Amino acid sequence: MNYLDAFRDPGLAHSLAAAIAAETDPVRPYRLMEFCGGHTHAIVRSGLQQLLPPNVRFVHGPGCPVCVLSIARLDQAIAMALAHGVILCTYGDLMRVPASHRQSLLKAKAAGADVRMIYSTQDVLRIARAEPSRQVVFMAIGFETTAPATAVAVLQAQAEGLSNLSFLCNHVLTPPALRAILAEPGPEGVQLDGIIGPAHVSTIIGSRPYAFVPREFHIPLVIAGFEPLDVMQAALMLIRRLNAGQSCVENQYRRAVSEAGNIRALEFMSRVFVIRPSFEWRGLGTLPASALALGPEFAAFDAEQRFPVEVNNPTAETKGCECPAILRGLKEPTDCRLFGTACTPEHPLGACMVSSEGACAAYWSYGRSAGRGSSGQRAAAG
Ligand code: SF4
Repeated sequence: MNYLDAFRDPGLAHSLAAAIAAETDPVRPYRLMEFCGGHTHAIVRSGLQQLLPPNVRFVHGPGCPVCVLSIARLDQAIAMALAHGVILCTYGDLMRVPASHRQSLLKAKAAGADVRMIYSTQDVLRIARAEPSRQVVFMAIGFETTAPATAVAVLQAQAEGLSNLSFLCNHVLTPPALRAILAEPGPEGVQLDGIIGPAHVSTIIGSRPYAFVPREFHIPLVIAGFEPLDVMQAALMLIRRLNAGQSCVENQYRRAVSEAGNIRALEFMSRVFVIRPSFEWRGLGTLPASALALGPEFAAFDAEQRFPVEVNNPTAETKGCECPAILRGLKEPTDCRLFGTACTPEHPLGACMVSSEGACAAYWSYGRSAGRGSSGQRAAAG
């Protein structure tokens, strides 16, 4: 048996569902936000919502690295590629995300910009070595999961004296985003009873940085792996804590996450990055101390300093696109009137339909109403 099969066993998923049904108080809501887009895909792909009692709801969160990139930052990268003639390298998902004025990196490429899709930071270093007469910019995005690899690439570029490589740093931090969602007041905010904490991010930062969730917001958080049984078990753990009136941080994903996280990866990050005073997120607005920039000693590798561009466009979303509300847990993809009509993976109008971790892409791939209350969708965990 494949190691992962053990975490996808339909029989065990149904056993967990039965335990959840038995332990759920039918008169109270259990609104559990899965922060991470990887969890959203596991939930929708395996039909986990349909296994749960109607008062236990998964609420999709903002943990999709492509989706949370603001349009202004995308415009900045496009302007850099067009105005400065650099080789702009980035991950594939970003290429088709709509920017202002119906632009995208892919359209900029079609218009003559040298935009290249890469799979890892090593590709970027290879391109910079191979084309010493060209300036190469790596548009780095992602949460704490991908930031260590960027940090290592910066150090490698410095050690090799690569003067034609720089970094457009868009790395963002999970705890400030979580805090922003939990702190959003009144009817504007999403009502949550528990949090399913991210898997990959937590392998880097550990479980400690989430301590503020129970301390300040008095709800439990369970870090969970990405397999269907991980998510079901995390839901059961949260329901037990809620029934007991307890709020704490628990770690369901012990096979990969420790309390302290990955010390070496964190060291690389702290050597290279500083925390930005503020940063604009798609959907969440401008959040203090929520993103990373290159530290002063790496200024020579900072694309924002090397290739300044003016981006004055008002960064309006595509008319009718509900990505911002989806990223805040206030709406679901099927609440968007463009879903599956004007907006499809072939013709995306928002980031949530483009990214492999986006909620709209998950609903499209695994069933248009698979996330909520529908019956007859794909069998759970199978
Ligand atoms: S369906 Fe398309 S337009 Fe609607 S929220 Fe999703 S990405 Fe945005």
